[in-house]
Amino acid sequence: MESQKLIMIPAKALSRQVPRWQRELARAITDPGELLRELELDPALLPAARVAAARFSLRVPRGFVARMAKGDPGDPLLRQVLPLGAELETTPGFAADPVGDRAAQAAPGVLHKYHGRALLIVTSACAAHCRYCFRREYPYADSHAGMDEWQPALAYLAGDPSIREVILSGGDPLSLSDRRLGALLAALDQIPHLERLRIHSRQPIMLPERVDHGLLDLLARTRLRPVLVVHANHPREIATAVRAALAQLAGAGVTLLNQSVLLRGVNDSATVLAELSETLFAARVLPYYLHLLDPVQGAAHFDVNETEASAIMKILRQRLPGYLVPRLVREQPGQPAKTPVG
Ligand SMILES: *Cc1c(COP(=O)(O)O)cnc(C)c1O
Ligand code: SF4
Repeated sequence: MESQKLIMIPAKALSRQVPRWQRELARAITDPGELLRELELDPALLPAARVAAARFSLRVPRGFVARMAKGDPGDPLLRQVLPLGAELETTPGFAADPVGDRAAQAAPGVLHKYHGRALLIVTSACAAHCRYCFRREYPYADSHAGMDEWQPALAYLAGDPSIREVILSGGDPLSLSDRRLGALLAALDQIPHLERLRIHSRQPIMLPERVDHGLLDLLARTRLRPVLVVHANHPREIATAVRAALAQLAGAGVTLLNQSVLLRGVNDSATVLAELSETLFAARVLPYYLHLLDPVQGAAHFDVNETEASAIMKILRQRLPGYLVPRLVREQPGQPAKTPVG
């Protein structure tokens, strides 16, 4: 029948137009009740999770949830995304803008704190909402270069020849569609003094489907030397699909680095961090930074103090080759670089 054909053709065309990663993104779990049910966890956790999620919403892709252990409320992957009552506590010394980003805006959406590198906040969207994120309290609405409003940011980059490297950040810059990312990269290509393109993204870990032909084509086309800094905190995050995504990126000539955050109850042990480094290297990624937690309001329960962190680093240096030891750093407002610790 004619009408059936008409129904079938658009459906196929649609699945070709909407990349698989965007469909996965749309299917992410956002309801705390569903997450608890999925993982067979105690429903008694729900009321607090709902209150905390009202402040900073829950969001986690199903593929990441599949890497969690069922029935374990302390699962290191779950802890990174599950809203907890502890987030509502006010802790002295934990602020809304701990790294001074609001003061560092050079142009709308541009943070220019360090020599030769400028960071572009291109979106506020992320595939997952990490509970410890320093941007959980960040007023994105006033500060990211919104939908196709990159002109002032691009003009700023073009006007300062000391900038050699542009860092796409957010949010997660790989939340942008290929069309928008492609338009941005094409504009950056035109700025003659830029040499390197760095992308800070958790998508290859959280949503490995994002690493598809569309993205690989964009990275192959740019004149700039591409560096991708992923963000994994625990070795179990590096699932088979993640390894495949990273292999494709490495095969496309992208330099792959990882940054982690030192998190209580997630990776606050030399054993876990050593395994993370080994697992990353096997997936062609070198460890870059291990960040001390930025003291953002609502994340104090993740804090590992400097003394403990230094003790962990000492063991790591004994166990690993130097190139697999991440640099332990803290971000301090007003400093010309990340501050090395221990
Ligand atoms: C962390 C950061 C960078 C990059 O610092 P590197 O030490 O080069 O990794 C650049 N700009 C801003 C604003 C940053 O916060
Ligand atoms: S992916 Fe990065 S920016 Fe987004 S919530 Fe997690 S830590 Fe924050």
